[in-house]
Amino acid sequence: MSRRKLYSRREITSRVRQLAKDIASDSEKGEPLLAVCVIKGAVLFYADLVRGIKGRDVRFAFVSASSYKTDGERMVSGGTVDMKYCSIPVEEIKGADVLLVEDIVDTGRTIAALKNYFRENGAKRVRVAALLDKPECRKTEIVPDYVAFTIEGNPYIIGYGLDNAQQFRNLDGIFEI
Ligand code: 5GP
Repeated sequence: MSRRKLYSRREITSRVRQLAKDIASDSEKGEPLLAVCVIKGAVLFYADLVRGIKGRDVRFAFVSASSYKTDGERMVSGGTVDMKYCSIPVEEIKGADVLLVEDIVDTGRTIAALKNYFRENGAKRVRVAALLDKPECRKTEIVPDYVAFTIEGNPYIIGYGLDNAQQFRNLDGIFEI
């Protein structure tokens, strides 16, 4: 399988640092930020992003949700979103300043469902940080608040947390296959 590098580790580091600074400056001082990692794809992005959010009390949380089902080799978007795991009790969502950290916003169904979940459970504010955005694939009204890189069209992306059938997550660059 051939792959083409889209972003190097150096480019990713610099964009993620900038995003972290923007998030820190848009967040209220003294107010804890509940940073919610959408596993597994966002894990590396999350780890780098939260370390860059200086001077804020950042709390960790993890959720697993997916709107995807397998269709042969490639993953395609399914219609429904399953919340498979949520590390935080609902009582801790009430009044929280939530930052959802996602690998890719494609149709937007996953992040729209997660946003609803946190809003319905009383979060004061819900923002979305996405490593990658594929706006041409959108099937919802979702616009992420922070995007590291915008991807044109609908190429399949791997690396820096993103997989193809669970492979390639540990690549330190972002590639198109
Ligand atoms: P959405 O609900 O926005 O359609 O789906 C977003 C999810 O689809 C992402 O979190 C990711 O898991 C998966 N996804 C969408 N496009 C790609 C892609 O190009 N590469 C990989 N590895 N996953 C993708």
